[in-house]
Amino acid sequence: MHYLSTRGGDDKLSFEEVSERFEYTEQPFTLPCQAILQGLAPNGGLYIPSEIPQLPANWETEWANLPFEELAYNLTSLFVPESSIPADDLKELIKNSYSTFRHAERTPITQVGSNRYILELFHGPTFAFKDVALQFLGNLFEYFLKRRNAGKKAGEARHKLTIVGATSGDTGSAAIYGVRGKEDISIFILHPKGRVSPIQEAQMTTVLDSNVHNCAVKGTFDDCQDIVKSLFSDKEFNDKHKLGAVNSINWARILSQITYYFYSYLQAKKQTPSDSQIQFVVPTGNFGDILAGFYAKKLGLPSQPMVIATNANDILTRFWKSGVYEKYDSNQHVQPVDAAVQVSEGASDGKQALAVVGGVKATLSPAMDILVSSNFERLLWYIVLESMVDGNQVAASAQVNEWMNELKSNGRFSVPEAALNVFRRDFKAARVSDEETTQTIKQYFSEPEKGFGSYTVDPHTAVGLKAAGVNAPDSNTYQICLATAHAAKFSEAVEHALKDQSQFNFEKDVLPKEFHGLMDKQRRVIDIDGIAPELTKEVIESKASKEAAEGNVGV
Ligand SMILES: *Cc1c(COP(=O)(O)O)cnc(C)c1O
Repeated sequence: MHYLSTRGGDDKLSFEEVSERFEYTEQPFTLPCQAILQGLAPNGGLYIPSEIPQLPANWETEWANLPFEELAYNLTSLFVPESSIPADDLKELIKNSYSTFRHAERTPITQVGSNRYILELFHGPTFAFKDVALQFLGNLFEYFLKRRNAGKKAGEARHKLTIVGATSGDTGSAAIYGVRGKEDISIFILHPKGRVSPIQEAQMTTVLDSNVHNCAVKGTFDDCQDIVKSLFSDKEFNDKHKLGAVNSINWARILSQITYYFYSYLQAKKQTPSDSQIQFVVPTGNFGDILAGFYAKKLGLPSQPMVIATNANDILTRFWKSGVYEKYDSNQHVQPVDAAVQVSEGASDGKQALAVVGGVKATLSPAMDILVSSNFERLLWYIVLESMVDGNQVAASAQVNEWMNELKSNGRFSVPEAALNVFRRDFKAARVSDEETTQTIKQYFSEPEKGFGSYTVDPHTAVGLKAAGVNAPDSNTYQICLATAHAAKFSEAVEHALKDQSQFNFEKDVLPKEFHGLMDKQRRVIDIDGIAPELTKEVIESKASKEAAEGNVGV
């Protein structure tokens, strides 16, 4: 088992190498931007496993009652040879990664309708599904660094990693919690000062570990992203500080997410008739989460076509309908040029118009606000492999490469019918508006299906639940809808949706006890007084030399 690029070339990477490819693409980056950034495959592609491993023949019975961690080990070890990480070390690493989860089952399912389950992925430290991957990734980085630094004497140069990222609020904390307190790793997360929701700001800035640096930049989220891009493209700075990003293109993140598809499938099968069918419904942004589901299916997990649920940023739903992968919707009259800021006010139908920034629409489900879905390139490769090139990997990469170049130069490409048919065989897709999102939050709270309790969902989860309803299958099929965040994390959208429900009480119904007192906890933030990248570089330099002075010398 090795890893190869979706765009071809000769490099064959090991699991360790591929885990440390730090393509920086936090949304809403577009593909052309990635190429200048460190760590991408030399040809701009993404890494995929050279083969799909085989499950043991009787996995469904043998794995039916395994705890989450053991299932995770069984699946992860299929892709991570012992020469990369010995079995006992990998087991330990996985055990540690999920010991931070509050729920004994880690990712439990809850039935919310006669044919519908919610897969709760928000029991990790920051109440969002990204914890599943980032708790694992943080430990993986620590493990590899420890191994490389083993036997180093005091004062000797050490291997180090400096993670830098920008956040609009929702993903920064999962990254911070993934690496807090870890030796030889420091993390700098930039957020726009005063423009992050109070809960999310508190979640990030109350982490006081000395390797965690929250930077409040006087500017917008886009400014923060520009600063990060600029840091990554400064080769000298990058080489010196070994910059890394922890975005959703990272292979190890995808890998760790495969587990909960199997886990929830096995749980649901125990609660449904023996001939029941399972269908997954996944709220989707960068196509990382659902790509893990695709790999689960490729490994042999039985599943009806999975539902891609998008918000108004619907490139995937448009592609599903037309076979055209197009950055901007050519049927819409608003076609902003890149980086332009346009806010359309009062659309003609009287509904509230969405703010459009650089072509990305600002919705109630911000973690899914993207122009293009970076991980979709990986799926495309498999589609091409099956439908167009008779299983020839080199030819598949050449085709993907061609399309990605087209996307870069023309903002679009289209695929032949055979390819589209394969895509439609494995996936369905639906676009959900903000209005429908709000209605769905309301519906699950105040009008649950007869016999089921009231459930408060976050706006991302609501997008999935709405899409599930649109694609409701026959009575023998049970849907598993992925809940990607806890409702408390997106309190504004939830409170807005439920403001007229007299029986709704945010503190009582939604706020977890871990959030009590959060706003009053001690915080540590570095103010960055402008958007010139030099200002952020100075902060990183000064923290690095402080650490060096304390005897922790980086190489
Ligand atoms: C990141 C995120 C998503 C989208 O996940 P992708 O892997 O990018 O598709 C959905 N919901 C929440 C809450 C997220 O944080």
